[in-house]
Amino acid sequence: MSPLVASALGAVVGVLATLLGLVVWRTRQQVADSGPAPLLSPALSTTIRHLRGAAAVIGPHDEILAESLSAASSGVVRGNRLAQPEMLELVREARRETEPGVLNVDVPVGPGLPNRRLAVRVSPLGDGLVLLVADDRSEALRIDETRRDFVANVTHELKTPIGALSLLAEAIADAADDPDAVRHFAGRMSTEAARLNELISQTIALSRLQSSDPLLAAVPIEVDEVVDVVLDQFREQAGSRRITLSQQRCAGATVRGDREQLEAALRNLVQNAIAYSEVGARVAVTTRRVHDVAGDWVEVSVSDNGIGISEADQARVFERFFRVDYGRSRAHGGTGLGLSIVKHIAAAHGGTVNLWSRLGQGSTFTVRLPASNAETDSEGGAA
Ligand code: ADP
Repeated sequence: MSPLVASALGAVVGVLATLLGLVVWRTRQQVADSGPAPLLSPALSTTIRHLRGAAAVIGPHDEILAESLSAASSGVVRGNRLAQPEMLELVREARRETEPGVLNVDVPVGPGLPNRRLAVRVSPLGDGLVLLVADDRSEALRIDETRRDFVANVTHELKTPIGALSLLAEAIADAADDPDAVRHFAGRMSTEAARLNELISQTIALSRLQSSDPLLAAVPIEVDEVVDVVLDQFREQAGSRRITLSQQRCAGATVRGDREQLEAALRNLVQNAIAYSEVGARVAVTTRRVHDVAGDWVEVSVSDNGIGISEADQARVFERFFRVDYGRSRAHGGTGLGLSIVKHIAAAHGGTVNLWSRLGQGSTFTVRLPASNAETDSEGGAA
């Protein structure tokens, strides 16, 4: 547990323990005044019950005297006992030592699912009573792990072009007397430098998209205008491989979003459609409006009749750095980040991206975004 979380949790438990201590004391006073009564007052039980996280007050015989609404579903309480032996041990120790205690406990959630990580803190309240508060740290832990993986992946990916650049620099030094060789190696250095540049900018784009508020500028956007801009950028590249680019437009297909991000998403899809198709292939971009129980949507699909993606790989292509064929991806300057960026951009706009593909037949990537009513949505507002 990080020191910051531990001290925040400690402060919360400290305040709660003091409050509960007071209530228990008052309850005892009332007991003294009016004969035997339950150890905890109804007011205290209600307070515990409505605490946001998982919390419980445990009695002198390890019985649960009060619990919050989520204590059972979080795996802290089962019936009228603590569900985890480690928690029970911590409670007994706190009662014995009359000292607060803290522990991380991994609680099994179900077969095939990752454990839930609970940061548990206990505080003795006197008379054998112990307050237990458990904070679910699973999400924070998952984010930490994702960040660590990402840094490891980026480091690994950066090593390839950097290694190539240093080898090419050596080759140039060795071929100093041969102008043709120098020109050749210098050309390859430019390619590697461009690759490095692409990797860095895509990494930055992805990090920004993973921030808590990735939609910087949300305005009404005519999706076909985005398609026009992107297709224009690829005409030359497609022409050089005799790939036909076609567009099916849809009047009034408007979404609310960030123009640059939507262009980036579509650029990745069109670039892939061209890169993973053979000479003479066809790439079609179709915009349409659809309506379902969840509301109105705008869909933009990029279809190709290229190499296609096997069913097993379809589930993985949206992962960062995943490539079906590393060599082919590298040959077109791919980073393995494009589809991950598309997925995040769609999600940041409240949408999704879907894939249909069959090996040897082609692929269709469809981005679905909430439709916007251009007449009621004004320019420049927040999302
Ligand atoms: P890359 O930079 O390698 O293209 P992406 O994240 O854009 O990375 O795509 C991941 C992988 O998915 C690619 O390496 C490729 O194997 C596969 N892929 C993406 N688009 C297509 C497509 N239209 N047809 C076939 N395979 C594709």
